[in-house]
Amino acid sequence: MRRTRSKSLYSALAIVAAVELLAAIVIDRAQVGAAAETGRGTIRVVLLVAAAVQLAVVAWTIVGASRAASAAMRAVVLSAQRSLGPRVAARSNDESEIAGIAGSFSRLAGELDTALRSLAEERNRFAAVLEAMAPAVVAVDDERRITTVNRSARILLGLADGVVGRPLIEAVRVPTLHELLDRATARAPATGEFTMPGTHRQVQALATPEPNGGVVLVAEDVTEIRRLERIRSDFVANVSHELRTPIAVIRANAETLLDGVLEEPEAARPFVEALYRHADRIARLVAELLDISRMEAGRYELELETVDVHDLVEDVVAAVTEDADHKDITVDRTVPEGVWARMDAKAAEQILFNLVDNAIKYTQAGGRVHIGVNTENGARRVEVRDDGPGIDPQHVARIFERFYRVDAGRSREMGGTGLGLSIAKHLAEAMGGHIGYEARLPRGSVFWVTFASAPAPRDG
Ligand code: ADP
Repeated sequence: MRRTRSKSLYSALAIVAAVELLAAIVIDRAQVGAAAETGRGTIRVVLLVAAAVQLAVVAWTIVGASRAASAAMRAVVLSAQRSLGPRVAARSNDESEIAGIAGSFSRLAGELDTALRSLAEERNRFAAVLEAMAPAVVAVDDERRITTVNRSARILLGLADGVVGRPLIEAVRVPTLHELLDRATARAPATGEFTMPGTHRQVQALATPEPNGGVVLVAEDVTEIRRLERIRSDFVANVSHELRTPIAVIRANAETLLDGVLEEPEAARPFVEALYRHADRIARLVAELLDISRMEAGRYELELETVDVHDLVEDVVAAVTEDADHKDITVDRTVPEGVWARMDAKAAEQILFNLVDNAIKYTQAGGRVHIGVNTENGARRVEVRDDGPGIDPQHVARIFERFYRVDAGRSREMGGTGLGLSIAKHLAEAMGGHIGYEARLPRGSVFWVTFASAPAPRDG
């Protein structure tokens, strides 16, 4: 179609040229010829015809061009319809192109609006998830300015509210963190760990580079994990340390016996006694370690029953009488009958035994130990007082930790393992009670433990 139009355009232009050529010839003749007047009239006619033809050609060209433009417009409309789907396709045939375009664009605007709204929804959902996440997230741009930060990050890294847009280096002054970002931009994620300044919080962070030069930082508080790891490795070191001495003594004594002392029964006796003592110590240590591991694994089954605290105290006193007598220590108690509490009798006995046993162990010969009970806020509080050396305030916070001793040498001498108070604390808490220490004035210690009080059982 375009070809036909350009062909006719050429022929029209050729006609115009011919007419103009004709006019030129006529003019020329007229100038040469005599009949000047007739010539002038002819020229006028020829020029008029030429002008008319030219006008026609121009008009025809304009119409053609407008048709071409309108075809182009229709193509735009069609393409808009195609991209907007069949919903709008049916309409524009019978409408003018402009109306079609206007319609298409208004529908396009509608579609855009929907798309923008769903994008905004998506963004809000993303922000909500980010905000609720436990790990701290901070994103920075290629100039290390903060672009995104979530709640956990604000708490963990101590960031103020208006921190977005500020350089990260100003917001978090931790060199390790910035080194981490430097390493991460070298095209691979990098991890690192640091302590938050002014706190004891241990933070582990992962920095992942983004294609636009920014970095996303995901950080977590690992203080508790590190603390537990330390406890575990300390525990293993402590157990090995505890076992080393008795094992060394057993080996040395056995060697001495084998070297000939065995043949002299009288000389052999102290070595065999030492063997027995140290083997016994190892047995106690292993039994306590098993108790602890069972308690920590939640496999220490407690059977709660209503027990008279008076009976509990009497049983424990009976168990320590020999040791107390040996050191000439008086153990007295003011625990009336009929003070009932909910407890696992075996566990409660072990707690109280550990407290009374310690009181006897650490109190000087001839001292006094007193056991009492009172009721406070629905709990039975059993107290064990002694007039021994007491515990220096600097150690008080740690005496319930495993293997913690104020004087390790002295404790070992007394056959202690450093586990007694930690087992007592575990058991007391497993029964819903508490355990604690108070200094006794003018000297000595008060260890106390609470049990839930219970009404007297109906039939004894
Ligand atoms: P141990 O086996 O060493 O006695 P415990 O866990 O029972 O371990 O006690 C921890 C530490 O607390 C002891 O080593 C001792 O230093 C201190 N302690 C416990 N009870 C008393 C007490 N009644 N008087 C003084 N110190 C005590």
